[in-house]
Amino acid sequence: MIIVSVRMFRGMNRLLLLGFCLALASCAAPGVQRKDTSRTFNTVVVDAGHGGKDRGAYRRPGPAEKMAALDVAQRLNRKLRESRFRTVMVRNADVFVPLDRRVAIGNRIDNSIFVSVHFNYSPRRAIRGFEVYYASPYARGLALGIQRKLMTLSGARNRGVHTAGFRVIKNSVYPSVLVECGYLTNPVERGYASREAYREALADKIAEAIVEARYGPGIYNAPPRVPVQEQPGGVIPPP
Ligand SMILES: [Zn+2]
Repeated sequence: MIIVSVRMFRGMNRLLLLGFCLALASCAAPGVQRKDTSRTFNTVVVDAGHGGKDRGAYRRPGPAEKMAALDVAQRLNRKLRESRFRTVMVRNADVFVPLDRRVAIGNRIDNSIFVSVHFNYSPRRAIRGFEVYYASPYARGLALGIQRKLMTLSGARNRGVHTAGFRVIKNSVYPSVLVECGYLTNPVERGYASREAYREALADKIAEAIVEARYGPGIYNAPPRVPVQEQPGGVIPPP
């Protein structure tokens, strides 16, 4: 959930808002030189949204966004390590981390990508579905890949892949995406988010998309390859 947009834009008309959002999304912040590590990255910075005094989206009965996001981020972290990536967790506990500090952590790490995990909020209970945001054109492929994998979950609704000026993606040097894993204000998706198996599946899909973005399809969770022993002359000797 990104609160700032609601507070900032109250009172602006829709057209003005759209123009403003597009302008924000299309340019990096001054001094940010974006780099394309989308095909080379060896480190994933995993950012669990919110934390501490900032609980994010919340509707009873169900998890607060800060806790659900942390849980998915921890699972994602584990899966990425199993896939031989280096990882950095922006937070690994229920603590508050300012947005600029999150960006700074990501920007310090060479040859990385940045993945921010969130759940969403809407005043309209019926709204549900996955959204993935990016700002750098170098992150577009990853954003599309994550959305595509999330859409393979049963019951998934597609709310699209979008550019946006959210600070953690806009000010990132390296390709950066923000994944909205469903609406905690929707009873169905709040129910999903409450289930450990579902949060594990979310992490699994995001991890799979990251591995595919780097190494191509068919690698994630593939059984370990056993080297094939060459037989002289191609003839298999009798036992
Ligand atoms: Zn959020």
